Amino acid sequence: MPVYEYRCHDCGHLTEELRTMSAADEPVVCGECQSKDTSRVQSVFSASGGSSTVPDCCPVGPMTGGGCCGGGACGHQH
Ligand SMILES: [Zn+2]
Repeated sequence: MPVYEYRCHDCGHLTEELRTMSAADEPVVCGECQSKDTSRVQSVFSASGGSSTVPDCCPVGPMTGGGCCGGGACGHQH
């Protein structure tokens, strides 16, 4: 599920919401001042991809458990 960001028109606070794409344009309540006067802003987050914590040493992906492979220990092609 993608993460969307909503800018509050009253206080400028940015509220992140995890929601389905069909509900993306529905207004959210500001997490700062509880105003409903918010609008969605373009987010850098994407719906695709699982883990976002890929270590630099292994571009294929993290080891099982998320640790760094140290360059080859994970069995991926380096
Ligand atoms: Zn606000």
